[in-house]
Amino acid sequence: MKGKIFLFLGPPGSGKGTLSELCVSKFGWPQLSTGNLCRQHIADQTILGNKIKQIISEGGLVPDDIIADMVVDWISRQSVIPEGIIFDGYPRTKNQAILLYNFLQEKLSQYELVLVKLNIDVKLLLDRILNRVVCSNKQCGRVYSLSHDSEMQPHQNMICDTCGYILIHRSDDTQDSLKKRLALYYQHEQEIIDFYVDKGLKIGILQAAQAMQKLFDDFKKIAFQNYVY
Ligand code: AMP
Repeated sequence: MKGKIFLFLGPPGSGKGTLSELCVSKFGWPQLSTGNLCRQHIADQTILGNKIKQIISEGGLVPDDIIADMVVDWISRQSVIPEGIIFDGYPRTKNQAILLYNFLQEKLSQYELVLVKLNIDVKLLLDRILNRVVCSNKQCGRVYSLSHDSEMQPHQNMICDTCGYILIHRSDDTQDSLKKRLALYYQHEQEIIDFYVDKGLKIGILQAAQAMQKLFDDFKKIAFQNYVY
């Protein structure tokens, strides 16, 4: 496969993080999650972390220039050239989409960019988000669901299957914050898609409400068999 960068675009709770984790564990691809980078800054209590803490807990968007610096820093720290890279939750605005496109054209032009859109009925998201818990170990960050009918429940109550750390609710996984995050997502979604379609990017569509293994199988068709529009 020619090197590909997959841009995961989907509302909060659509499964971008979980799908990314599968790509990391099954293919060894690196995952750039701007949300994880932000949370790491907050946990480390850096100057930046203190600046963005409130924005994140209220469900707002971190300014584009801060995110751009984080992304450039993350890319410059990658030592190997993998065949796939996942961008999870980035870009989130048209401006970020433009910055990223220009940066990649200049620095990583050997990669093909593929937009992967996770479609899901908005009615399912509140339940998913309010039942979501994540591993408190920032190096792990595995995502679980406490929903009784979910395949993503931890084996032991509130303990991570992978590393044994305690599972926690994200501070921004509240009803109020979700409302704002959803509104922001849908406000920017179409502009991002239009920008990339205009640039000739291929788009893979995933039905995100289905079981995770099926979602992953469908993603593999996009990644390896070019099931794109
Ligand atoms: P996520 O983990 O992707 O759901 O992101 C959590 C929060 O981090 C978002 O609600 C935003 O406040 C912030 N964030 C993450 N990525 C971005 C981004 N690309 N642009 C602006 N804010 C972001």
